[in-house]
Amino acid sequence: MTPQRRAVAEVLDGENVHLSAEAVHLAARRTLPEISLATVYNTLNELASMGEVKEVSAGGGPRLYDPNVDNPHHHLLCTSCGDLRDVPVEASGIELPVGPVPGQLDGFVLTGVDVTFRGVCPACAASVSV
Ligand SMILES: [Zn+2]
Ligand SMILES: [Zn+2]
Repeated sequence: MTPQRRAVAEVLDGENVHLSAEAVHLAARRTLPEISLATVYNTLNELASMGEVKEVSAGGGPRLYDPNVDNPHHHLLCTSCGDLRDVPVEASGIELPVGPVPGQLDGFVLTGVDVTFRGVCPACAASVSV
């Protein structure tokens, strides 16, 4: 494992971790000050193609990288503060299709599916109701 990959992997660890490439870059520079954003992008692409991280898009923001690949989960997005949390499939009531879906639909080759629940997190709900 290269120092670059280790620095990126250390940032991307745990549950409820969804970081943009820029955020990964910022955090990785704490352990590897000379790491460039381009290297972070390359490393993230490598980790994604190895299945070590998952790319998540939610809420129209930048693409996020999610290290929680061992526990199949959906996402819960707070539309107020943008917090993105993991929702275990069991708790969501929606089954996750098994792996990338092969096949074609109107000429589209399907490679995956994302389920994102939207709502307001407890902290935002509390500040609104005061
Ligand atoms: Zn919130
Ligand atoms: Zn996640």
